[in-house]
Amino acid sequence: MKHEPIPYKIYLNENEMPKAWYNLRADMKNKPAPLLNPGTMQPMTAEELSGVFCEELVRQELDDSTPFFDIPEEIRDFYKMYRPSPLVRAYCLEEKLQTPAKIYYKFEGNNTSGSHKLNSAIAQAYYAKQQGLKGVTTETGAGQWGTALSMACSYFGLDCKVYMVKCSYEQKPFRREVMRTYGASVTPSPSMETEVGRRILAEHPGTTGSLGCAISEAVEMAVGSEGYRYVLGSVLNQVLLHQSIIGLETKAALDKYDVVPDIIIGCAGGGSNLGGLIAPFMGEKLRGEKDYRIIAVEPSSCPSFTRGKYAYDFCDTGMVCPLAKMYTLGSSYIPAPNHAGGLRYHGMSSTLSQLYDDGLIEARSYVQTDVFAAAEQFARVEGILPAPESSHAIRAAIDEAMKCKETGEEKNIVFGLTGTGYFDMYAYESFHDGKMQNYIPTDAEIQESLKKLPKVD
Ligand SMILES: *Cc1c(COP(=O)(O)O)cnc(C)c1O
Repeated sequence: MKHEPIPYKIYLNENEMPKAWYNLRADMKNKPAPLLNPGTMQPMTAEELSGVFCEELVRQELDDSTPFFDIPEEIRDFYKMYRPSPLVRAYCLEEKLQTPAKIYYKFEGNNTSGSHKLNSAIAQAYYAKQQGLKGVTTETGAGQWGTALSMACSYFGLDCKVYMVKCSYEQKPFRREVMRTYGASVTPSPSMETEVGRRILAEHPGTTGSLGCAISEAVEMAVGSEGYRYVLGSVLNQVLLHQSIIGLETKAALDKYDVVPDIIIGCAGGGSNLGGLIAPFMGEKLRGEKDYRIIAVEPSSCPSFTRGKYAYDFCDTGMVCPLAKMYTLGSSYIPAPNHAGGLRYHGMSSTLSQLYDDGLIEARSYVQTDVFAAAEQFARVEGILPAPESSHAIRAAIDEAMKCKETGEEKNIVFGLTGTGYFDMYAYESFHDGKMQNYIPTDAEIQESLKKLPKVD
């Protein structure tokens, strides 16, 4: 063997940390489809977008050709507080499974917000500050994004206004209080503060809200408030760009030991962690230098890739946002209750959607009891209490490792462990009590919501 045995954790030192984000779109032959203005059905211009988003972020959003964007020093300094995140060789899990596969996971839960979302939150807050803005608005579902953004805003002294899906606001008081600790104001959505919120409440009194609806509220508030812009924690190209830090670090760590992954696995909600994790590897694949199997994992209750349609759709329920071409279940699709709140979005990043359509990514879905079984198995041997979202990737990694056991193949499996599950203990409780139910939408339900897709030629 060329190297010493691989350590349990592979770290990078400060000099080895990436200094630029990698823009995967630069290497794509088939570029992701542009965002469209819902009024004119023409591609959104930088000028139109800059009413909603910060200028530099608009530039990043629309740039399909620049491969690298320097990470500003202020952001690199913040990253140093919690990065590099460890790349762990899951020796204990391998032992438990008695598999010849070698399993690695990139753990992004090592910061107070508990997930990878901080990687983009700090970048977005930085550019808002640079532009001299007073603050930003956003939505949060399960609360991870709102928490990450509130940390980032307090670091740069920006005001942070979060619309939190009402059922989470009520069910997850601790997430809410973490956000308030960092100085954010948190409003349950739908609210009476916005026109969209009032309209939705009039139409559906007693609704407990949805991510799509909270997005509409946050956008309306940003557009109508002087010195404010809207920020989004997933789906957008700019977010995938910032999250490429995950993949760049992973690749640098593996390269140190000449480890080449065979399979790369990530959970997919809006696609930001998966897009970030695979970025440099997919770049090699697109340039024809290497080949990797890449697997996106989603919940059976919200199966955008595996059962959705590749079409232009609204990004929000209130239909105020631009249209994006993506694998979607339709913006009116309301996923049945599922404990992986971060995977409940109806659509998928347009970059990943294009890659999936081109056959460069595989996708699969799991029911939540199978996901929690994997979460528990993982927690018991590797020690980390995983987020329900992340546990989708664990499930797939275990299944792939078990296939290696049958065939005797020593594959290198890398998966993204996006966060911790301390705020999801009601979900674990329902699993332990045997009360957790699986929801799989019928074809008719999905068709019903797809009927309402906007007409775009
Ligand atoms: C938000 C979230 C996800 C899903 O979002 P992506 O944009 O698809 O990465 C996954 N895991 C955790 C822990 C999250 O908070």
